[in-house]
Amino acid sequence: DVGEAAITALATAMAEAMFAHAGELTDLDQAIGDGDHGLNMKRGFEAVMAELPAIAAKPLPEALKAAGMQLVMKVGGASGPLYGTLFMTLGKEIGPAPDRQELAAALAAAIAAVKARGKSDTGQKTMLDVLAPVQAALAAGASIGEIRAVAGEAADATVPMRATKGRASFLGERSIGHMDPGARSSQLLVEAVCGVLG
Ligand code: ADP
Ligand code: MG
Ligand code: MG
Repeated sequence: DVGEAAITALATAMAEAMFAHAGELTDLDQAIGDGDHGLNMKRGFEAVMAELPAIAAKPLPEALKAAGMQLVMKVGGASGPLYGTLFMTLGKEIGPAPDRQELAAALAAAIAAVKARGKSDTGQKTMLDVLAPVQAALAAGASIGEIRAVAGEAADATVPMRATKGRASFLGERSIGHMDPGARSSQLLVEAVCGVLG
């Protein structure tokens, strides 16, 4: 099973990444949104950290659901329900000791749930443009180093995209030339997980 120590390490790494990059995420959101993404993610992961002893004591599926609930309640905005849906669906789909194939299948289901919740798809300059290629790499047997690289390239690839979902879509053509803040936060979360697993 993925035990208390591993869950603590994973949650802490994700939270620290959000804290360390809150300013950068806010700057990205200032360019094409309302400038709160860093603060939103920081608030959400502060709540996860505050509940961490209780969360990490649970089996992995329940821990993921509990963390997702904190994100829904505390992140707010568009990204809160979407990241919350991602984590809660992972918790629903995954077992206590997932292997790669199980993780890949659970992440596919979680991405599908985010798409349903956001009425969105890849190619619209959102977090999905990082999450989907990461899932594909995971399913294809990529190494941790390769998954990191895919996440970085996928976040970079949102720069020339035109946003057609979320606040950035209000800017139309002017959304082009900036990295999507949610794509960047997803990349940072993936990197944090890779750092713990690698
Ligand atoms: P808000 O836009 O409400 O201020 P945030 O700034 O926290 O929320 O999050 C914005 C990010 O959420 C975007 O950069 C994008 O990646 C993601 N996002 C917004 N709407 C959607 C959607 N419908 N589907 C997927 N991701 C979305
Ligand atoms: Mg925002
Ligand atoms: Mg907002």
